[in-house]
Amino acid sequence: MPAKRVAARRLRAMLRRGQGYGIKGPNWRQGRDKRPPTRPRDVKAAARKLVKRLRKHAGDDPELLRIATALSRCNRLHRCLHPACPQCGRALQRLMVRIIVRFLRAHAYLGPWRVLSIILPVRPGATEIDLVEAWDRYAALLQEAGLTRGVFGLDLSFNEDDRRSLPDADRFEPHPCVHLYGLAPAAEVGAVLPRLKRLVPATDAVRRPVRSTPFDGDLAAVAYSFKPDFVRRQTILQDKQGRANPVRNTRDRPLTVEQQIRLVQALDRAGLNGRIMLLGLSMEAIA
Ligand SMILES: [Zn+2]
Repeated sequence: MPAKRVAARRLRAMLRRGQGYGIKGPNWRQGRDKRPPTRPRDVKAAARKLVKRLRKHAGDDPELLRIATALSRCNRLHRCLHPACPQCGRALQRLMVRIIVRFLRAHAYLGPWRVLSIILPVRPGATEIDLVEAWDRYAALLQEAGLTRGVFGLDLSFNEDDRRSLPDADRFEPHPCVHLYGLAPAAEVGAVLPRLKRLVPATDAVRRPVRSTPFDGDLAAVAYSFKPDFVRRQTILQDKQGRANPVRNTRDRPLTVEQQIRLVQALDRAGLNGRIMLLGLSMEAIA
């Protein structure tokens, strides 16, 4: 059975020492436009904005106010370590990239590696975003498929169908989507891929739920597993040169206030390491 949780204590200790918050360490380019990773000042600004939003929309929810207070007090002398904190989320991502780079170097015999991306269908009737349950479902799926090793992160997006030319009945309902993304040894991935594809059927909302590509050493793939920013992903139809009919594509939009609040609550419930999944590897082995 995959380790339920990595050594949270260890990560917390590293964050408390201030590791990951600066600009030191491995770097990468991310996204479609290959931009550099966020800088400390970007996440500081994002944190201020988030705190303001939470305070404005908390109503009389004491939990949201508690989170807003924690985030507002996060600084160099005292890190809040809250999973929804933009500053701590960025630091955690950088730490994980650093740790995994070191692990891949030290355990080169396990490679080559492949990037594996899986999207399980939304559980019918689910109204809450439950990262703890998603973690368990993905762990069970990987185990059933027979994968024994890997480093993965859970990502979350709010998916919306913005194909306005289609009748309502042909468009999928907006839903939060928890997505597993990470690296596993290529030999294992090759062996379990057909089974994984059978276990996770395609749906209209997610047409290719299981994807695998070679890992070329680009750290963006490692960083993506633990990215601290989340998007609203809209499926659209787009005209394309040389094609008679518009083709399906996606575009990213910032989260709405309502989505951001649901996300903060979900991250709060999941905990600081609730998005990290180490399969067959312990934190001691990789750190
Ligand atoms: Zn923080």
